[in-house]
Order: sequence, then structure tokens, then C-alpha cells
Amino acid sequence: MKVLSIASEVFPLVKTGGLADVVGALPLAMAPLGIEMGTFLPGYPAVLDKLRKRKVVYAYPDLQGGPASIVAGSASGLNLLVLEAPHLFNRPGGPYGDATGADWPDNWRRFAAFCQAGSNIAGGAVPGYRPDLVHAHDWQAAMTLAYMRYGGVERTPKVMTVHNLAFQGQFGASIFGELGLPAEAMSVDGVEYYGGVGFLKAGLQAAWAITTVSPTYAQEIRTAEFGMGLDGLINMRAADLVGIVNGIDTEIWDPATDELLAAKFSAKSLKGRLANKRAVEERFGLDRDEGPLFTVVSRLTWQKGMDILVSLLDPLVATGARLAVLGSGDRALEGALLAAAARHRGRIGVVIGYDEGLSHLIQGGADAILVPSRFEPCGLTQLYGLRYGCVPVVARTGGLADTVIDANEAAVSAGVATGFQFAPSNGDAFAHAIRRAVAAYAAKPVWTALQKQGMKADVSWQKSAARYADLYRTLIAAGHSA
Ligand code: ADP
Repeated sequence: MKVLSIASEVFPLVKTGGLADVVGALPLAMAPLGIEMGTFLPGYPAVLDKLRKRKVVYAYPDLQGGPASIVAGSASGLNLLVLEAPHLFNRPGGPYGDATGADWPDNWRRFAAFCQAGSNIAGGAVPGYRPDLVHAHDWQAAMTLAYMRYGGVERTPKVMTVHNLAFQGQFGASIFGELGLPAEAMSVDGVEYYGGVGFLKAGLQAAWAITTVSPTYAQEIRTAEFGMGLDGLINMRAADLVGIVNGIDTEIWDPATDELLAAKFSAKSLKGRLANKRAVEERFGLDRDEGPLFTVVSRLTWQKGMDILVSLLDPLVATGARLAVLGSGDRALEGALLAAAARHRGRIGVVIGYDEGLSHLIQGGADAILVPSRFEPCGLTQLYGLRYGCVPVVARTGGLADTVIDANEAAVSAGVATGFQFAPSNGDAFAHAIRRAVAAYAAKPVWTALQKQGMKADVSWQKSAARYADLYRTLIAAGHSA
């Protein structure tokens, strides 16, 4: 079975968040199940620079304002197709914006072109390659499914995965004329969305199946509170909606072999964690002591509940705990965290930025990772935490609810607890969870049991890959019988 996965980022070539980790890990996870997964990506400099065995397989004299080509190749063990379109993707900065973080004003054109090309590949533009199914991730890839639907590739099964419903790719109606879609597509059951054009909406409408990245989030997005205006559409398509929890790449994230750690360790012996803790204290300018060391590795945003964290920093320090924060995002939150670090020298350390290597060290050295998200489709940092014995303290929402077992009395005595959950996502509940974690940390055997139980949890792709494979097979069979 050949599946074409389409996404705007993939680890380790381009990453701004969990999407990249998932898109990078899926092909490896699917291979043992007999699924050959190719990945189609925009040709950012970071992707083209690493592409090996390059071969141009399709050329456009003009695609959305300039010449473009589809290039086949490989990088980091992935089979890739890449849209080389210098006028759209050969730019400094991130995948979606310039170095200051401002979105490119022509993002609609960049990702429309990408999706047009994705649809062409689905339709057989690349000689000798025709996927049995197309799997699009998030709004940047979503329009592929609409181009397929309106461009004569409607019989190829289509899956749309929502990694975060907050990012929808909504644009004004004026762009419609330049998308190259037939006039009939500008309708409520096509790409039209509240009078404009909705890229994710169009993908949700055209998909044969919609998936999201945890069972709880799949339920939540059917409500007005979490549906971000799309709950009506998602409810209409509820029969085709499934939640499949993300796994992690357990080879890249393995404390027994991780070269990014100061000391390796395993569930059999957690001793190596101490050297990592010392290294984290050093990097964050924290006092060295035996009390609990909390961490946050996150985008610093409202979604992630970082304002709630900021409001609790003084009481957190008052419990005797320390905190190491690695993240970047809202300037006001960055400033508030840096101010707290200055106020609580040695107790709070903040590194503003994005540092993959440091994130491994932190998971291997901190005692507990705080994830107070207001909503969280799946969340990966709590999964890395489980794997590394860094106990998760999480809001009970989305994938956080599905992957962490709260250390209530029953779960502790049954030996199944792996972390702490709190609800609702507010300061009182979060503060209570922090106090529970501090108390558990003081009872060493309880804490060690939590760590070891977390390290035993299956956070691999195995089960979820099988669920995707089942879904693909069902849709392909339905396509044949249609
Ligand atoms: P989201 O995709 O919403 O940002 P996830 O938890 O799904 O959240 O994924 C975040 C990914 O990005 C994880 O792999 C996490 O380790 C990583 N990450 C987030 N912020 C940083 C940072 N400042 N430095 C290094 N890695 C980070």
C-alpha cells in the first residue's frame, strides 16, 4: 500500500512543534505494517539543502507566479517529494513567517501552490507513482483534498488529520479567483467559510475520514468550547471522525542511548538522572539542592496555559521547588518569566529560545514537567517526560487526559499512576497539583514508583500505527467498492 503524507514540516528537517515529530515518525512506524509512506513537503532551504539523490520528476512553467518543480529524493531516512518553488519557499526565517515571527502575507498562495502540486501527485503527475491514499496534516496541507475533489482525483481516499484546530488557514474571499478552483467550490460544502476561504475547513469537507491526535480531543472539538467555530461541521462528520493518540520515536527518545544526556539511564536504574539534574541546574543558573526541580518545555502561549504558570511562580518557589523553563513565544510571557527569574535568582531559570538538545537534557534531569494547557490536542512533552522519568503534571484536557494516569489514592495503591492531572485549567487547580507533586516528591518510594511506572508506559507508535493502517485499509476497500 502506498500512502502519500502531506505536511508543512517534518522532523528533523523543519520543526516548529509536535506536527513535525509526528510526520517524521509516521513513515517509520507504518513500514512494518506493509505501508510505504512518502512525504510531500514545501521546498524550504532547510529541506532542499539536505535532500539526497535529487531528481526532478515534474516541472511547472508557472505555479502561482513562478516556475516550480517537484523533486524526488531522500533525507534522514525519509522518502520525500519536495515542491521546489523559489518564489514561494526560498526565504529566510521560519516555515510560516520571517525572522521576527510575522506571518508571510502570501501564505495562502504558498500553501495553495503546495496543495495544487500535492493534488497533481495524487493524480499521477510523477511517473511511476500513484498513491493509494492521501493523508493531509493541518491547514497547510488541507487544500490538497479540495484540489483532488474538484480536480478529478475524487476516487483516491483522503484522510485529514487535525493536529490543532486553532490553526485554520482562513483568508478573505478575494483570493478565491486565484486558487484555480471551479466556481462551484466557493460554497458552504466546499471551501467557503464565513464568507471567506477556509483551508482547513475545505480539507475537513473533502476528507473521507477525519482524524485528530487523541480520543479526548476528538470529543472536545465537537463542542462550542473547543470547536473554534468548526464544531458544527465536525459534528456533521462525526461518523467519520476518530481520535488516534500520537506516539513518539522511541529510538530518538531513549534515555538508555541518548547522546544528548549528560548521563544515560533506564528504568532499572535511575542513578544517571542525578548527573543530568546537575547539568540542568548549571545551564539554568539554579541552586544545587535536593528539592524538586520542575520544568516547562513549551511554546509560551495562552493555549499552553503559560499565563497561569506565570501567576503561580511566587507560590511555586515558596514550596521549596525550583523551575527551569525552556521556551519562546509571546513577548509579554517571555518578559514575565525573565522578570520572575531575576526576582528568584537560583530558584527559577529561564532560557528563551528553541533548543532540541537542551530539551532532551531537561527531560532526563528535571523531576517533573508542567503542562497546564487550556487545550491540548495530544501533547508530546508529557510523553517524553514519561519515557525519561520526568513526571508529568498536566491539565486534564485532550491528549494530556488520555496519556497520564493521575496519582490519586486508588491509582497509587494499584501501582498504575504515572503523574498528576488537574482540572479545570486554572490557577487554583494547578497550584493544588503542584503541591501534590511536591508532597509526593518528599515521599521517595512513591515518587520512584511514579517514575518507573511512567517509564513502562507504552508511548511508542506501535498501537497507533496499527490504527492508522486499519483506517487506511478500510478507506481503500470502500474506494474499490464505490
Ligand atoms: P505543540 O506542537 O502544540 O507546540 P507538542 O507538545 O505537541 O506541542 O509538541 C511540542 C514539540 O516541540 C515537542 O517535541 C517539544 O519538545 C518541542 N519544543 C517546544 N518548545 C521547545 C523549545 N523551546 N526548545 C526545544 N524543543 C521545544
